[in-house]
Amino acid sequence: MNIKNNILHYQKELARTGCKLIAVSKTKPIEALIEAYEAGVKDFGENKVQELVEKQELLPSDITWHMIGHLQRNKVKYIAPFIGLIHAVDSQKLLKEIDKEGKKNNRVIPCLLQIYIAAEETKFGLSEDELRELLASSTFESMNNIKITGFMGMATFTDNANQIRKEFQSLQRIFEDCKAGFNHKNLALQELSMGMSNDYKIAIEEGSTMVRIGSAIFGAR
Ligand SMILES: *Cc1c(COP(=O)(O)O)cnc(C)c1O
Repeated sequence: MNIKNNILHYQKELARTGCKLIAVSKTKPIEALIEAYEAGVKDFGENKVQELVEKQELLPSDITWHMIGHLQRNKVKYIAPFIGLIHAVDSQKLLKEIDKEGKKNNRVIPCLLQIYIAAEETKFGLSEDELRELLASSTFESMNNIKITGFMGMATFTDNANQIRKEFQSLQRIFEDCKAGFNHKNLALQELSMGMSNDYKIAIEEGSTMVRIGSAIFGAR
């Protein structure tokens, strides 16, 4: 694996599209992240709080850290002071906790709501109904230290490109509907986080603004 070459490849490919690259560095050693940083990466994605915090302490402060994995409420406090974007908010309870920790840290924490689009049982996320309920709730309205800047979704893990495309299209449709249907101080819907190493091309074609790429940059985990 030549991390530098891989990064340059994706930066070039993404430059045409305006889509942002999130380098997913979970399980990879600090040296690998430094190599990516030196190749120009400023956005790193991790899925475990402890690992994210450890790496954040060791790496330059101009990095934007993305929490891309399922987040437990009792761990929000560890990342609240610095996290750049939380991608996988999937309940109002979690959002409330992030809001509380945002207030303690005197900041507004950018979040994406994770929407369930896959056919698999195991994936986290809100259904479209749950999403609408959350966005319309007075609890959501009363928050002052979070901002929902978009949605995140994961397609089914399959070779069926058609199915993946349909799932991304459904997220894009929900995104457009919510942009048109909800107007709110806590909402600034501009990001669609979708696409990973195996399906990022389809995701970009279907409107992704951030792709989360791990193994295609850093090698298999
Ligand atoms: C691990 C992970 C990725 C990156 O997956 P790759 O297939 O290695 O590119 C993207 N998003 C989430 C939520 C992940 O957990």
